[in-house]
Amino acid sequence: MTAKRWHGGELRWDHHSGEWTVLAPGRAGRPHGAVTCPFCPGPGEDTPPETWRLPDPGGGWRMRAVPNRYALSDHHEVVIESPDHGWDLAMATDAEATALLKAWQHRHLMTRAGTAQVLVFRNHGEAAGTSLSHPHSQVVGLPVLSAATQRELAVAREHYDATTRPLAVELLAGELAHGERIVLSHGQAVAFTPFAPAANFEVRVVPTRHHADFCAASPAELAAVAHVLRIVLAALRIGLVDPPYNLIVHSAPTGLEQVPYLSWWLRILPRLSVPAGLELATGVPVSTVTPEDAAERLRAWIAGLEPDVIPPPPP
Ligand SMILES: [Zn+2]
Repeated sequence: MTAKRWHGGELRWDHHSGEWTVLAPGRAGRPHGAVTCPFCPGPGEDTPPETWRLPDPGGGWRMRAVPNRYALSDHHEVVIESPDHGWDLAMATDAEATALLKAWQHRHLMTRAGTAQVLVFRNHGEAAGTSLSHPHSQVVGLPVLSAATQRELAVAREHYDATTRPLAVELLAGELAHGERIVLSHGQAVAFTPFAPAANFEVRVVPTRHHADFCAASPAELAAVAHVLRIVLAALRIGLVDPPYNLIVHSAPTGLEQVPYLSWWLRILPRLSVPAGLELATGVPVSTVTPEDAAERLRAWIAGLEPDVIPPPPP
């Protein structure tokens, strides 16, 4: 039996699946549908002492990070994205979305020490696993590499060794040449639906300059990615009526930030159905919407967004 303990739980190795399992019994105590929101500023505010804040000129805060009270590992933070309970990344301004990506970069860097990989993700809606509706994202450092991450690494490395081209660069070039699955292209960022999606309406947002490390993205790259991300989320919100989704930042594991064969990118996985027997038995996802159809519908929804959602290009 292989296991690694941390202060609030345990990682156990599943010998059948060849994958880690997290046991975090403390998370059962998470408040679901709490009457008083612990993340809203005011007398009901109830969080562990903050580790970071983006101050507001008025003396309050615009964003803050706090340790997760119901942690999934020894390194687990919550980024509270706004003091406004009703704020939504899908309705954010470019400046707000860019500030959030910068916060993720910062907390990713600060979480790295002593971990094998750092995950940044955002769960939107109860079906995507969120227990608190106040807008927030999470930064988790794991002491191990998951088997899924190791397989991704092996695939990327083999491809690079065989071709001397990073896989993500070739995939993006292929998508741009083909065009059918491109959702939005804006300066240094592109959104497309993947050829083999893991969910209906899966969208990937990638920078045009390939780099393994999310934290190495420049301010201009982050701004472009933030713009594309919020527009895609706005389109999903309009077209699919505020669907639940998981948003994941893919970045190199700790210590591999400089390798030439990995790339960072964002993945939006709408949660429109529950994984059923075939998916659970085999790990093979089933989608009922083709990515070509999804891209066409997303482009139409983007075209229909109000002009104030997509500001005109500067003169
Ligand atoms: Zn709140």
